[in-house]
Amino acid sequence: MRKKLIQLIVGIASLIAVLVNHSAISVGAEEAASKLLLGIHITELYGRVPDQNLEMPVQGVTKSQVADTWHAPREGDRLHEGQDIFAKRGTPVISATDGYIVRIGENHLGGHTVSVIGAGGRIYYYAHLDAYANLAVGDYVTPQTVLGYVGNTGNATGGPTHLHFGVYASGGALNPLPLLVDRFEEKNQPLKHDGGMKNR
Ligand SMILES: [Zn+2]
Repeated sequence: MRKKLIQLIVGIASLIAVLVNHSAISVGAEEAASKLLLGIHITELYGRVPDQNLEMPVQGVTKSQVADTWHAPREGDRLHEGQDIFAKRGTPVISATDGYIVRIGENHLGGHTVSVIGAGGRIYYYAHLDAYANLAVGDYVTPQTVLGYVGNTGNATGGPTHLHFGVYASGGALNPLPLLVDRFEEKNQPLKHDGGMKNR
């Protein structure tokens, strides 16, 4: 009972956060409605059990090819809070889970990044993208949705192209590697690319 109440409060708080973050003076009614809808979706996601299996987010890569770099030391006393999945520039980055896009944007470390919120309110962070797929904040994604393409933007500039994949729970970053699973498609059929389409 208490857990449900906490989930509800967290959900409402995140809904308010989404609304406040995005409230511009000239927000149109339609835009406001879509923000409200995203808030409701997020609230609903908080009530669900987090995904225990994450589908490999880089096309053509298998779990056994990922060298574990979780908590490897990084510049400035940082620890590596994710996994690096190496692939050629332009390789499709596919959502590891169902969820909703909560952020598409650039930052100093991550370069071009996409963040997806999934079940349990977990945030899946896809960084160093070369380019984005044609998606917007609030779009629903599935493990078939192309989010962008592998690159080396941000602090990966000049280095080998790879996806930095991060998973954030309420208590902090989780190691994505034990949760990753190989895609059925890799062995059985080519993956359809629908990244250019709206996927609600
Ligand atoms: Zn990384």
